[in-house]
Parts: sequence; C-alpha cells; structure tokens
Amino acid sequence: MRKPVTVRVPAKVNVQLAVGGVRPDGFHELVSVFLAVGLYDEVTATPADTLRITATGLDTDRVPLGRTNLAARAAQLLAARHGIAPDVHLHLAKGIPVAGGMAGGSADAAGALMACNGLWGTGASRDGLLSLAAELGSDVPFPLAGGAALGRGRGELLTPLEVSGTLCWVFALADGGLPTPAVYAEFDRLREGQAVPAPRASPLLLGALRTGDAAALAPALSNDLQAAALSLRPCLAATLAAGTAAGALAALVCGSGPTTAFLTRDAASATAVCAALLASGTCCTARAASGPVPGAHIVAHRPA
Ligand code: ATP
Repeated sequence: MRKPVTVRVPAKVNVQLAVGGVRPDGFHELVSVFLAVGLYDEVTATPADTLRITATGLDTDRVPLGRTNLAARAAQLLAARHGIAPDVHLHLAKGIPVAGGMAGGSADAAGALMACNGLWGTGASRDGLLSLAAELGSDVPFPLAGGAALGRGRGELLTPLEVSGTLCWVFALADGGLPTPAVYAEFDRLREGQAVPAPRASPLLLGALRTGDAAALAPALSNDLQAAALSLRPCLAATLAAGTAAGALAALVCGSGPTTAFLTRDAASATAVCAALLASGTCCTARAASGPVPGAHIVAHRPA
C-alpha cells in the first residue's frame, strides 16, 4: 500500500490586477501580478477504491465535495493523461478563504496534481504539472510556481518576478464569498461604453517589488475589480478604511474579493493592524501573513 502524500499550497494576492477587453473566448485579457502569501491549504492524497473528497477547516460548508471540486477535476485530468483510474481520497485542510479572491480552489487543484503525481508515481515533470494546471483554470499554475509572477493572457502565462525580502500583510476575511463571474459581470456593467485600454504591468510596482520597498509598493497597488467588488459588497469600504486608519500602508480588495489585503511596514505593524481589524467589527476575522513564499511542496504527512 502506498503512503499518503500531503502537499502544502499557498494563497495568492494580486498586487496588480489590470483587466482589459473581453476576448473571443469570453475571458478578459488580464495582466496580473501575483504574490504567494503564507495562508495555506493542505491536500492529502491517500489510496482509495474510488475518487472521494473530504474537507476540514475554513468555510468548508461552501466547498463542493463531488466531482466538480477543482481538486477532484485535477485528479481526474492527471489520471486520464496517464490512462489510470482516478481512485484516490483527497482530503483538503482549508486555511484559504473559500470564494474569497485568494484562489483557494485553484490552490487545491494545484495541490491535488502534485499529491496524486506523488501517490500514483505518474512521474509528471514540473513543466508537465504546470501545463495540466493551465488546462484546469487561469489561477491554477501560480500556486504551483509560488513566489511572485507576472501573469498574462487569462493570467495563466507566467513569468517569474524577483522580490527582495519579505512583505508583511494582513488579510481580513469577510462573511460569505463573492462569485468571480458575478464580479466580472459587474465590472463589465460599470465599464459599459468606456474605451478599454490594453492591460499593462506598472513599472513602478515591478520596481518596488524588485527592491522589496513596501513604502514604494503601497501607492502602486491596484485592482481593476475593486470597484465592482465594492459595488456588490459596499460594506467592504468600512473594512478598507479600518485597516488604513490602523496604520496599514495601503489597502485593497484581493482579486474578485471579498477578502481585503493590507500592506504593512513590518511584522509588528501587521500584528497591530490585525488586532485593530479584529476589534473593528468590519470583518469576520483577520490574519497576518507574509510573502513571497514558495509554491506547492510536499510536506511530512500528519495523520488526522
Ligand atoms: P479566484 O481568486 O481564483 O477567483 P476564489 O478564491 O474567489 O477564486 P475559490 O475559493 O477558488 O474562489 O472558490 C470558488 C468556488 O469554487 C467556490 O464557491 C466553490 O463552489 C468552488 N470550488 C470548487 N472546488 C473548490 C475547492 N477545492 N475549494 C474551494 N472552493 C471550491
């Protein structure tokens, strides 16, 4: 009997998300600057007679446990490519908010690819896993890669970026999720009739990442989906204001939201901003986490 394989996978924050026009395939043209941060899901693959998903941790009441789960789809894709049955028990220990704009489902898909590859001995290379990841969804390759990267196309065409040092963040988790398609639909509604410039990466932002200068990065953070997320969830404005008043250098909505991200000067400031957000009553909970962190990696299995 093969031993279980556990993979730890980070969440992402888009430090820049520039949304362009709608492509013929219906996806928006994106430029996305991803940073992997220290909020994690763990995916454990164990031998089983059939494909089965279980989940514990954050927001698990909103995680589908059938074959639509992104981790199940990842296992099925890898198995199909190697002509084997996708018989595996995947356990998801969730620490990334569900439908929170931090790509939790995509992280689980990335983790499932790596964990099943280890369990089944299918021997897919890192590049092989990255190309399967891109087939599964725009946000799946980045959690495999980790670190920081510039994403083009639908966000899946990745170029690694250098970041000096570590950036300290606080993430405020909201009650309930925001469906990504609804946020894009609201984005299109708000932008109707306006000219759509081609998305481009901010040289100021890339320079601040290279030098690891949080004060220079703060004014360069941007998310084109923020207005749409705020339009659908106006109470997020109070969360953003509470974090800024508590001393965050900058505040922004994570991807399609509703999680909000706060860049801080250092770890001590992150602890203070986290406490102030918790006390403000404007969010469900708040967590300090730093980045960049490495992408999906196998860790020692801890039996539940
Ligand atoms: P993104 O940032 O990539 O837009 P997100 O972080 O907003 O995504 P996810 O946590 O990936 O959102 O979940 C989006 C939806 O996907 C959920 O509402 C859920 O129904 C479904 N889903 C499928 N598989 C998973 C999974 N393994 N974990 C969480 N949600 C999943």
